[in-house]
Amino acid sequence: MVESTMMEYPLTVTQLLRHGARVHRDRQVVTWQGDHARRVSFGDTYERIERLAQALGDLGVGEGDVVGTFCWNHQEHLEAYFAVPCMGAAVHTLNIRLFPDQLDFVIRDGGDKVIVVDDSLVGVLAQAPDALAEVEHVIVVGDGDASALGREVLRYDDLLAAQTPGYDWPDLDENTAAMMCYTSGTTGNPKGVVYSHRSQWVHTFGATAGGLNIGAGDRTLVIVPQFHANAWGLIYACWIMGSDILQPERYLQPEPLTAFIAAERPNFSAAVPTVWNGVLALGQTKELDLSSLDRVVVGGAAVPRAMIERFHDEYGIEIVQGWGMTEMSPLGTLSMPPPGLGSWEEEVDWRVKTGRVIAGVDMRIIADDGSEQPWDGKAIGEVQVRGPWITAGYHNAPDPEKFDDGWLRTGDVGVIDPKGFLQIVDRVKDVIKSGGEWISTVELENAIVAHPEVVEAAVIGVPDEKWDERPVAAVVVAAGAELTPGALSEFLQEKVARWWVPERWTFIDEVPKTSVGKYDKKVLRRDYEQGGLTIVRADD
Ligand code: ADP
Repeated sequence: MVESTMMEYPLTVTQLLRHGARVHRDRQVVTWQGDHARRVSFGDTYERIERLAQALGDLGVGEGDVVGTFCWNHQEHLEAYFAVPCMGAAVHTLNIRLFPDQLDFVIRDGGDKVIVVDDSLVGVLAQAPDALAEVEHVIVVGDGDASALGREVLRYDDLLAAQTPGYDWPDLDENTAAMMCYTSGTTGNPKGVVYSHRSQWVHTFGATAGGLNIGAGDRTLVIVPQFHANAWGLIYACWIMGSDILQPERYLQPEPLTAFIAAERPNFSAAVPTVWNGVLALGQTKELDLSSLDRVVVGGAAVPRAMIERFHDEYGIEIVQGWGMTEMSPLGTLSMPPPGLGSWEEEVDWRVKTGRVIAGVDMRIIADDGSEQPWDGKAIGEVQVRGPWITAGYHNAPDPEKFDDGWLRTGDVGVIDPKGFLQIVDRVKDVIKSGGEWISTVELENAIVAHPEVVEAAVIGVPDEKWDERPVAAVVVAAGAELTPGALSEFLQEKVARWWVPERWTFIDEVPKTSVGKYDKKVLRRDYEQGGLTIVRADD
């Protein structure tokens, strides 16, 4: 019986930290300040990370503790991302857009001992006073007024200044908790997912090799918030691969964001479709310099074909669609087209698919009757996943319903083709069943936004006497344009099955969004039920 001769070497974030600090000392963390950038090399950042770990240690943070962050993407947030896990504690990235009662819940449920907060966000954090009362120390980044918190605070800069570089990082078991992230909790309370050192390590390599393709010399603009599923793994990936890390801080609106892009010239970036939609809309009113960007990952929600085409045609930017979820660290698929295609037009057909499953993720499709479906591009069912960076449960909240014999039930409905490309048809809770047949809200939305005068479109299912359920399309029309249900129905002919075309339409100023910028259909459904939407029928 032969035995492995390999070392048993733990897979830890500390190893990633040391690698980037030694090998890529000169690369930079660049944080935008609205009109200029702040730059700190990886080498100097590493020394600051050591000081932070010492300071937190002096405050009593030790192995097994939780340190919350309530921050934009910036230098100090990145420092906490490394210092806290490498000390053996877990960094809990709090979502700055939660409602006060959700924020109160996640701080308590996470068991945050210390919270690091931006001075610009003190007022928002102060909305959870009861949970804050249980937090031992609050550390404020910046020297702005923090009186809203009504308590003594520590200042990040003072803490670091009082330390000297050097830290004796503990040897950690690879299964030690490293990070904590909550799902956005569309129904009920958010649920905590706790990533281990090992899961972060393998996710970093899996995501990089699986299609993020980050390399030395890249400049990566990390728009996706660090609290949204760990900025999709970009921070650690850039650190070990030697890509500069560009952080937009609070400047996320299209105008300041594109000013940052023009000034600092990233070649790669990632964000949800809402952000890129805003950039495209701004581009219609003024000339934008996006010439440095080669490719961007867009995910978290379906990416319409129209967006992929416009970025390519107008700016020469390649969009790679990504799919995943907080429970998956988050990456599951990336839509890199297969090799050997002749033209961009052929490529687009692949890029509009949700994406090709990346190595490290096992995926299957399970039909309503519990049977596993073939990868034939037709058989539909719930997408289930398992793998070394996929959660096996939730913090303080066992939820056996979310698992099926060791597989995570994603709550997404889809099909997989023979090449391993997944196509998400809908979320289980969003699918519409009309006269016994499925209508994909995702596909319908994509078909509607292909209309040049439509900015956003969200489709929800509503009860219907004859068909059980029918779609209602909520549409945001471009400034100055006028569209009627008749014109839109006409536009949809040939694009979707005739019976998919909605009879009921509503025109709104903006589609409501969740805390991470996705369409919030729960709010739309509620507005519909309460008569808050003005419905116009196609035949009116
Ligand atoms: P939340 O569930 O709160 O939105 P996540 O960010 O974890 O938080 O969301 C994961 C979900 O987002 C997936 O289960 C899927 O429904 C949706 N999603 C993510 N990426 C895509 C994509 N490329 N296409 C369609 N849906 C997507």
